[in-house]
Amino acid sequence: MTELTDLEFDQQHLWHPYTSMTQPLPCFKVKQAYGATIELDDGRKLVDGMSSWWCAIHGYNHSELNQAVKEQLEKMSHIMFGGLTHDPAIQLGRLLLEITPPNLSKIFYADSGSVAVEVALKMAVQYWASKEQPQKNNFITTRSGYHGDTWNAMSVCDPVTGMHQIFGTSLPNRIFVSAPKIGFYDEWNQQDISELEQALAQHHQTIAAFIIEPIVQGAGGMRFYHPEYLRQAKLLCEKYDVLMIFDEIATGFGRTGKLFAWEHAQVEPDIMCIGKALTGGYMTLSATLTSTDIAETISQGEAGVFMHGPTFMANPLACAVALKSTELLLSQNWQENILRVERKLRQCLVQLADFNHVQNVRVLGAIGVIELKNNIDMKSLQQQFVDRGIWVRPFGKLVYVMPPYVIRDDELAFLLKGIVDVVSHMQEQVV
Ligand code: PMP
Repeated sequence: MTELTDLEFDQQHLWHPYTSMTQPLPCFKVKQAYGATIELDDGRKLVDGMSSWWCAIHGYNHSELNQAVKEQLEKMSHIMFGGLTHDPAIQLGRLLLEITPPNLSKIFYADSGSVAVEVALKMAVQYWASKEQPQKNNFITTRSGYHGDTWNAMSVCDPVTGMHQIFGTSLPNRIFVSAPKIGFYDEWNQQDISELEQALAQHHQTIAAFIIEPIVQGAGGMRFYHPEYLRQAKLLCEKYDVLMIFDEIATGFGRTGKLFAWEHAQVEPDIMCIGKALTGGYMTLSATLTSTDIAETISQGEAGVFMHGPTFMANPLACAVALKSTELLLSQNWQENILRVERKLRQCLVQLADFNHVQNVRVLGAIGVIELKNNIDMKSLQQQFVDRGIWVRPFGKLVYVMPPYVIRDDELAFLLKGIVDVVSHMQEQVV
């Protein structure tokens, strides 16, 4: 039997995200990454436009983050959180409470974004059970949302792009209203909230919480909606006794131009999930934060405790690097830096809006989105980006970028020129 090459082995044996095992798309093998550069095994260098899906805000191989990991590694890489605690968890917790909504005071550390969402949903259900309203155990959300791939997180993702029909009745049935229609920069129209109002009026007796990604709907369509939507939704949630969960897993840590996206609307959620850039993209870690009232109510319920406790809860290595990453962000003039990226994104990408095959170009903070009229040919487009020395991973009708904040002006110009070149020449390749 002939030996498989590494790439053949990868293709035949390793499952990649959302990938067919019979017709997998090509993968590029990475040797190393540093700053905003991804170096492939064959020596080619790519300027990174993705921050490894919102995470690597300080770029790769950052000396201070490396140091934080090494120092913690010398002490302990992991220790159980049941009955034991440690400095990285405590110091990170102190810092997180300083920068998240003032009403949030209790933190549950978990392993990934999806688990943070599961935890948030469970908190909401246990809260109402403790208040002797166990019938309030369903969720309401908007279409075009994305909250992760575990069972209940998936149940509140957009039912179409989340392909809910594949899972049939095994997936819990949630209540969906239309996605917010009014864009971030457009004029508010009260019409946009009327469907949520009707749905809450009809179903509130069975609803534990309304879950939404504040301001930016990410993987469900890269849409930026009006802050007034959140203010109005908050009023409705209060009126109908429904908790509000903000999923800030993608939007957190400066990406939208605010440290967290709730600040655009100044609406405090009852429960908030964070993850991704929490560790600067070094390791997987997430947190679900809630108020004293919710935590105490849960604790006074039948179980007397919150029913969750992952093995790697508050992993010290992850907490140590998260602490350093957050301190690093706060120690810089990050707002000015995000504005620098935002200005450049707008300046370079706006020209694409004139093309017939482009539906819309939009920018918010360090996020740039080109929405096309038709689905893209992922394989061809991916190769063209790599051939131009840039790493951009499109999906559906969307070509989008969210570069590491450390990206230099010349790297950003190179990245955006590559995108403009590819997108402006793609008319004939659209499938
Ligand atoms: N919520 C949002 C808004 C996300 O963007 C993601 C990840 N793309 C998740 C939840 C799930 O996070 P994870 O992939 O770490 O489970």
